[in-house]
Amino acid sequence: MAWASWDTILGSGKVTNTYGKNNSRYASGSHTGVDLVLNNQSKTVQSYTSGTVEQVVTGQNGSKKGYGNYVVVKDDKNNYILYGHLDSVNPNIQKGSRVSVGNPLGIMGSTGNSTGPHLHLEVRQGINKQSASVNPAMYFMNAKNSSDDTVSWADSAATVGPTGEEIVNWFQTDGALLLLRIMLVLVGLFLLLATIKSSLLG
Ligand SMILES: [Zn+2]
Repeated sequence: MAWASWDTILGSGKVTNTYGKNNSRYASGSHTGVDLVLNNQSKTVQSYTSGTVEQVVTGQNGSKKGYGNYVVVKDDKNNYILYGHLDSVNPNIQKGSRVSVGNPLGIMGSTGNSTGPHLHLEVRQGINKQSASVNPAMYFMNAKNSSDDTVSWADSAATVGPTGEEIVNWFQTDGALLLLRIMLVLVGLFLLLATIKSSLLG
């Protein structure tokens, strides 16, 4: 079995944010993964698939950008599974390492663009790029026990809490752009009024 079961995922964490939520605060415009807050005491992030380690990014503990420290595992069907915002990466996990379901990849954290400790789990199909992300739920659904058909990803998802939201740099947001536009309009109005006033007085 290449993927951990749905029950395993749910047993290991609570979903705090689902895939695909549209929000201009995300760099891509929507949430490209699923956020989980793990409930195991050691906060160990375990691999949910077997595969080969494709990418390891460390040294991001001071960074508030992107995924922070993260690991990408490639499974045997060309799916890339990204584990983001790690506090630390297991030193045994290096590019090219083979992993099985349950192998420790690192410790849950809040590095990168994150507001609280959580695991950002992202699945990319065919190519290791954010634009290739798909809903991870479809993989877990395939892996889960058929007697659990009534359980859906949405049912188990809690409302979005203080952990799990990646927020892009304020200046990248639509809000900042809007503010800039309003300021430009105000400056324009001021200049117009000043011109009218001076022509009246003159
Ligand atoms: Zn996330």
